[in-house]
Amino acid sequence: MTRTVDTTRVRPSHDVLRLLPAKTARAVGALPLAVEDGTVVVCLADKTDFNAIERVETLLADRKVEFVEAQDPVDFRRVLRENYPDAAMTGDLERPENLFAHVMRRALARNASDIHISPAETETLVRMRIDGRLQTDLSVSSQTAAEFVSYIKVLANLDIAEKRAPQDGNIDTNVNGLEVSLRVATVPTIWGEHVTLRILSQTRETKQLDTLDNLGFHSHQLKLFEEALETPDGVVILSGPTGSGKTTTLYAALRRLAKPGDLHLVSIEDPVEKPVAGVTQIKVDARQERVSFEKALRSVLRHDPDVVMVGEIRDGETAQTALRSALTGHLVLTTLHTNSAPGILTRLVDLGVPPYLVASTLRLAVAQRLLRRPCRECMAWQPADAATCERYGWDAANPPKVPVARGCAYCGNTGYSGRTAIYEMLPVNDGVRKMLLKGESEGDIYRWLKAFAPGLTLRGDALAKVLEGETTLEEYRATVVEELELAELTIIN
Ligand SMILES: [Zn+2]
Repeated sequence: MTRTVDTTRVRPSHDVLRLLPAKTARAVGALPLAVEDGTVVVCLADKTDFNAIERVETLLADRKVEFVEAQDPVDFRRVLRENYPDAAMTGDLERPENLFAHVMRRALARNASDIHISPAETETLVRMRIDGRLQTDLSVSSQTAAEFVSYIKVLANLDIAEKRAPQDGNIDTNVNGLEVSLRVATVPTIWGEHVTLRILSQTRETKQLDTLDNLGFHSHQLKLFEEALETPDGVVILSGPTGSGKTTTLYAALRRLAKPGDLHLVSIEDPVEKPVAGVTQIKVDARQERVSFEKALRSVLRHDPDVVMVGEIRDGETAQTALRSALTGHLVLTTLHTNSAPGILTRLVDLGVPPYLVASTLRLAVAQRLLRRPCRECMAWQPADAATCERYGWDAANPPKVPVARGCAYCGNTGYSGRTAIYEMLPVNDGVRKMLLKGESEGDIYRWLKAFAPGLTLRGDALAKVLEGETTLEEYRATVVEELELAELTIIN
């Protein structure tokens, strides 16, 4: 029986599309969707068209081919033209305005967070960051790329003659009726200018992440987080590397606090990523002395706020001012760059904040990471092997089943679609305060947390989510460096 495919959801990758020349693909009505276990899956407009089958088989020479059918032939025609665009649909893609519109449509359709225009020796790649990973979407000639980059620089009000210095700018544009804001950065490379476009507007994916309920918290984690938000004074700090979803969590927290409308909420950000109803958002420029985080925070405290969000603590002065303001009856939400939740405590002390001040104001320290979710269409379950069981403390005689990412037409052959977050949560209770005041290390506090509540560590949360099929062990290992686990092993040995 022939498989049918919902072509509105397929995301064939650049490598797969390259298997057929665009002109032939359009002419015979064939769209390669994925390579599954070595077999090229090709969707045909008409499965009884032997001419089409023969042409595709000839072009794919020695490869195994599986032909599938589209659920809806009208959708298929549209998707085929989107993936192999012809001039009738996009206009001539050699023209920069058409190329820009085409790239933006594809980026939004794929929920990309960034677009990179990366020049190389003979061609320029247009790549998109999807679920945190870069995927090549298109390659264009160096000549087309040069005109494309100039066009983008004009839109962003940059100096098009200046090609040797990095420049920053913004573009507000409209794609399929949707307002889109782009942050533009250029940098010269040996093969020409590299341009990065960050998509700031709300796309479908980020809309779903508006509320705390949709951020992948387990119920016990959500309870801890909400309790910390309900305290009228104190500090809640989120940590994680860039791109770990800290800002999304902070915004969701602000939205929750803004909802009843009886609190004065102020945020100090660099830059303001998106507007939040009910929050007074202040933009600072950390590169300039005039409006630093610390200066803005001092002035904000004179405006009678109930809740203050500080985008990021980068220095000791801001840290001290933020924590001291919690002493005088404010709830402060902020972020810090550390690898673990216990690391937040020791980092504050390293920044020069007295341990007693950390102990008396910090309510909850959170570390987070974003991990990709296995694609629902192609994921498989298999029993964990003996080494994995030993590593994660599972019973090797009765191994649990863990998800394995494979790859299909719906996930652009990556095996993943969408992301979830994992959290480490350290509630600052009497035990933690004592350890902090005694000057115990990040590792000591981590071991205490692991013994006190293993499910509250990044590792514990990740393993739980693996067993729920929300992520994979491969994804966890690729994202989290278990430095503290390693340190622990060394001590035991
Ligand atoms: Zn898939």
